[in-house]
Amino acid sequence: MPSPSTVLVTGGAGYIGSHTAKELARAGYRVVSYDNLSRGHRWAVKWGPLEEGDLLDQDRLRQVLAAHNVDAVLHFAAFAEVGESMREPELYFRNNVAGSLSLLEAMHHSGVRRIVFSSTCALYGVPETVPITEDVPKAPANPYGESKLMVEKMLQWEGACRALQWTALRYFNAAGCDAEGDTGESHSPESHLIPSLLEAALGKRPACPIFGSDYPTPDGTCIRDYIHVTDLADAHVRALRHLENGGASMALNLGTGDGYSVNQILAAAEKVAGRPIPIERQGRRPGDPPKLVAAPQRAFATLGWKPSHSSIDNILETAWRWAAQRSASNA
Ligand code: UDP
Repeated sequence: MPSPSTVLVTGGAGYIGSHTAKELARAGYRVVSYDNLSRGHRWAVKWGPLEEGDLLDQDRLRQVLAAHNVDAVLHFAAFAEVGESMREPELYFRNNVAGSLSLLEAMHHSGVRRIVFSSTCALYGVPETVPITEDVPKAPANPYGESKLMVEKMLQWEGACRALQWTALRYFNAAGCDAEGDTGESHSPESHLIPSLLEAALGKRPACPIFGSDYPTPDGTCIRDYIHVTDLADAHVRALRHLENGGASMALNLGTGDGYSVNQILAAAEKVAGRPIPIERQGRRPGDPPKLVAAPQRAFATLGWKPSHSSIDNILETAWRWAAQRSASNA
């Protein structure tokens, strides 16, 4: 029997990386996580060894790629907060762009020719048309989105010049947590909407800020397309298989095609928590487009993938279970 493929998961101690590590292991891959633990968690690495290291440490990357005989890379390690990227853009260009370049160089040196890249809908900026297809013009509204677009361009050229096989998965809003409670979302400080609402529900913060009430949307708050992290993880495994089967390199949107406003998410969070959630209405957060909803048909057709965990109720229920479990164990 051939030995299973070995996948290096950069950012394997993080939110989406750890959920994907679980799905990869379930699908029979050997998983090695590479993480500097600057934002990830040792407890989240459960489906294979952790190799601690920084993306910018290329010698370390080369050593890990060789030591584990890595066949493919799933590249999650990155900073991913819009607001922070507006305040400290250099962090994003160094970690996300220079870090990815270092990884691509190490892969080239080590003869690893497949990569699935964690990209984002933030590279579309304020799109001219919604739902958003992959081909609409890219005009990032913040350095985070720009950093991911720059990496996608590197992938295209590495594909053209080095025969790298790549898939860029453009996530809409990753949300929810593993239904079995094996891993979940944990940022410090938390800045994303759903975990912030649940922290406020649990009394872990006085109130959740709600950014903006005057957007050109039906209720004045931003609309987003929330996709369950387990569906994202499944799409990564399928994207890897697609490359292994000789599939073409391309970018794919990962979303549901349905949009929910911040106020609708607040209502769903109050329902699952069974209590009113203290909020504080504030002005707009810089860099936030009013409405981002995916046209995910290319991913459906290419990967044979469809979200099956992404109802708003399931997203909120799994996130709530995780938040309550963490809260009880940290109490
Ligand atoms: N948001 C909010 N309060 C928060 C965090 C986020 O009102 O504490 C809003 C944010 O302005 C955006 C939406 O919720 O419209 C989703 O933001 P999040 O940071 O979760 O994800 P992003 O869209 O930035 O990837």
